[in-house]
Amino acid sequence: MSVFTILCYPDPFLKKTAKPVITFDKELKQITNDMVETLYANPAIGLAAIQVGIDKRIFVMDVGYDREDPESKKETYVIINPEIVESEGDSINEEGCLSIPEYRSEVKRSERLVLKYQDVNQNNQELKADGILAICIQHEFDHLNGKLFIDRLPPLKRKMIQTKLKKLASRES
Ligand code: ZN
Repeated sequence: MSVFTILCYPDPFLKKTAKPVITFDKELKQITNDMVETLYANPAIGLAAIQVGIDKRIFVMDVGYDREDPESKKETYVIINPEIVESEGDSINEEGCLSIPEYRSEVKRSERLVLKYQDVNQNNQELKADGILAICIQHEFDHLNGKLFIDRLPPLKRKMIQTKLKKLASRES
C-alpha cells in the first residue's frame, strides 16, 4: 500500500474528464486500496482518482471517521463509475478540498440523492444519501467531470479566488 501525492489547483489534470472503469482487475484493487490509504492519511472525507493523477471514474469516501478518536470506526466507500440518478432539495454548506488547500467556501448542492455505482468486484450498488454524505458525493462526482467546488461559486467570486490561488501557487513553485 502506498499514499499518493495530491495534485493541487491550478494543475491542468484536475480539469480532465475521467474515463469509465472497464477492467475490474488486480490493478484496480491496488489503485482503490492506495486511494483509501491516501484518504486516511489526509484530513479529508473524500478523494477522487483525478486528484492523484488517475483519470478514472473512481472516488473513495468516509464522512464519519474521526482521526483523533481511537474508538471511531471506519466506514469506507469505494465508488466506481458513479451516476447520480435522482436528486432533490437544496443545501448550502461550507466545503474544502485537498486540491485547494487553505480555502473554504459555501457551495449550494442538492440535499438528497440516489447514487448508482459499481463496487470493486463489479457488483452494481445503489446508495441513498443525505446530509454530509450527499454533499461529499456531489463534490467528488464533480471531480470526475473536471469540476472543482470553486467552479460552482458565482462568477465574480470565482474569478477573485482563482486569481488569488494562482498567485499563491506561483509563489510556492
Ligand atoms: Zn475536492
